[in-house]
Amino acid sequence: MGDDPASRVYVNNKKKACEEIGIYSEEYALPETTSEEELLNLIDKLNNKPEISGILVQLPLPAGLDEEKVINRINPKKDVDAFHPVNVGKIMVGNYDFVPCTPAGIMELIKESGIDICGRECVVVGRSNIVGKPMAMMLLHANGTVTVCHSRTKNLAEKTRQADILVAAVGIPNFITGDMVKEGAVVIDVGINRTENGKLTGDVEFETAEPKAAAITPVPGGVGPMTIAMLMKNTLKAAVINREEK
Ligand code: NAD
Repeated sequence: MGDDPASRVYVNNKKKACEEIGIYSEEYALPETTSEEELLNLIDKLNNKPEISGILVQLPLPAGLDEEKVINRINPKKDVDAFHPVNVGKIMVGNYDFVPCTPAGIMELIKESGIDICGRECVVVGRSNIVGKPMAMMLLHANGTVTVCHSRTKNLAEKTRQADILVAAVGIPNFITGDMVKEGAVVIDVGINRTENGKLTGDVEFETAEPKAAAITPVPGGVGPMTIAMLMKNTLKAAVINREEK
């Protein structure tokens, strides 16, 4: 909804990924003036449309619209972003169908790189519902010892220097510098920040962190593409779940 330029890029990338792998998709680009009721009616329509397996509402919504109410309206079985409280609760108890795409992508990166999480010190910087909190839960499910840091955390560098696996999801360019990284750590940079000259940059200062890290994700090209891949995976899963229910 509206004309957020970053949202436009994300939606286009998601549509492109669908086309590439043969997932049918519909886009509803609604003007900023759309009422909450109209948006909720559209979600109801898609909830009831059998050929639609997954629904996502690209956030943020324009001011004045209640994001929570909108997300709560999506059928949890079609909630491929895994933001609905039913899916959030399922993640909490460890019996889930969908994981939010960014943490899911990070778990996949860690697994595919042969990195063991069990018993390792994991530090997540950021506690958003979209990234930080579900990330912490997934690391916990994988038997990591998890610390969640946020804007009120004291002595942050002391905490990040403990991390065997460090996830930065803050939204501040170059926030994590090399001196905050332990020698041999795995560094995952979730941040997508646009600098004044239009360049994309992460939350980690790559030049100073990379020499210390055993493994590090770049921005762009690291977590971002994985997020989209996991959206595709969740959609396929939703298709199977919804078909089995018919
Ligand atoms: P958010 O703004 O909702 O949350 C930011 C978090 O950072 C908050 O929990 C806050 O407590 C913490 N924080 C802020 N200042 C801090 C400080 N000084 N010290 C410690 N913690 C601090 O953001 P979000 O939605 O979690 O996104 C974070 C970043 O990740 C953004 O750059 C966003 O664009 C990016 N992002 C990337 C992807 C991807 O696919 N790669 C997906 C989602 C978000």
